[in-house]
Amino acid sequence: MRLSVALLLSNLLNLKSMTQFSLAHAKSLDVQDPLQKYRAQFSIPKQKNGEEHIYLCGNSLGLMPYRAQEYVNQEMEDWGKYGVEGHFHARHPWMPYHEFLTDKMARVVGALPHEVVVMNSLTANLHLMMVSFYRPTAERFKILIDYSPFPSDRYAVESQAKFHGYDPKGAIIELQPSGDKETVDHDDILAMIDKHGDEIALIMIGGVNYYTGQLYPLADITKAGHSKGCFVGFDLAHAAGNIDLQLHDTGSDFAVWCTYKYLNSSPGSLSGCFVHERHAEDENMPRFSGWWGHDKSTRFLMGDDFKPMRGAEGWQLSNPPILPMAAMRASLEIFEEASMPEIRKKSLKMGDYLLSLLDNIDTDKISIITPREHTRRGCQLSIQVKDADKRLFDKITAAGVIADWREPDVIRIAGAPLYNSYEDCWNFVEFLRLELF
Ligand SMILES: *Cc1c(COP(=O)(O)O)cnc(C)c1O
Repeated sequence: MRLSVALLLSNLLNLKSMTQFSLAHAKSLDVQDPLQKYRAQFSIPKQKNGEEHIYLCGNSLGLMPYRAQEYVNQEMEDWGKYGVEGHFHARHPWMPYHEFLTDKMARVVGALPHEVVVMNSLTANLHLMMVSFYRPTAERFKILIDYSPFPSDRYAVESQAKFHGYDPKGAIIELQPSGDKETVDHDDILAMIDKHGDEIALIMIGGVNYYTGQLYPLADITKAGHSKGCFVGFDLAHAAGNIDLQLHDTGSDFAVWCTYKYLNSSPGSLSGCFVHERHAEDENMPRFSGWWGHDKSTRFLMGDDFKPMRGAEGWQLSNPPILPMAAMRASLEIFEEASMPEIRKKSLKMGDYLLSLLDNIDTDKISIITPREHTRRGCQLSIQVKDADKRLFDKITAAGVIADWREPDVIRIAGAPLYNSYEDCWNFVEFLRLELF
């Protein structure tokens, strides 16, 4: 009797583990998913055979919302119809166009509206922010950066140090990975700030590392940096639209991010920029200025004296390109409807699901280098491939997966909650499993 109960139990457990890894289970998760309806609002790229790709590359370029095409077309029509008068008479007048984006973008990153502006591109904004917030002195001239940062960030900080007359070798301090991992432990970051803080002028870290997918403790870094008298800024290229950021409360001095990754606002589209409210009224801060940053009530008097707009808008340079902002307007509407907390919730659930499927592959040929804790990751998982064997990546690509390979040995995948399904995750892992055996 006892035996048969045990048998029954083990059969049930087996059944459970079988169903948990089945395609049917993936489909049932999709049916329960409150964000499922958004997938149909995006154009999913198709393969030559007409089937949809498994697109897991929203961390690199977000997909096109159909609404973006419509909004861009509207601006093209209004340009045709009104010419220069479109600045006032377009359905969405071009003169104040960036203001149509501000409130929604501020909600995406958890900031006050006057702390946020959409302008320029990411690396350009990073430089503008460093003009204001990297002010080295003889005793305090260093910049603390992420371990293995995105190359553009490294080039930007190194060139700023050189611009001020410092050798980057002495001026740039890089976080170091903890133990034999690829990622940096929380305590090691804080210890680094504690040790070098008195010499650090600026802490400039990526919110989510582009390579490992590690999410950094932004509030703790800010607090530690400020207690040592450093300015603190973040590059949120991989965090905006991914993590439910609370930039105002986090309290960093500035942040910058691109909008073509998780924010789906078209290739090379404009960047977001955050300047904390405590700097909003400071007109004497060093900055590189342009006419669009001038007080808008007197901008067109074309006067000689620059009077900055209050808050982040005061850093604008040029009248901005309307077409990419039209695409962004469409995308931000979707973020507003879906809401960042819901997006984050699905992202974590989908991440847990992907991890459970990947863990279920019995192999030592791959390992996940992204931290597993919810507080330390976003949508992205970085899969390290043993012996840097890129053939695995090439094979899943041939099978219809769009992911990306980052030298030397990582496949990055990201389930984007607005358009990826649990079925996408299941299909991806199934392709991977088939190629591994
Ligand atoms: C994507 C990315 C960039 C790209 O910079 P652009 O100026 O938009 O070309 C820079 N830094 C980080 C951390 C990124 O992830």
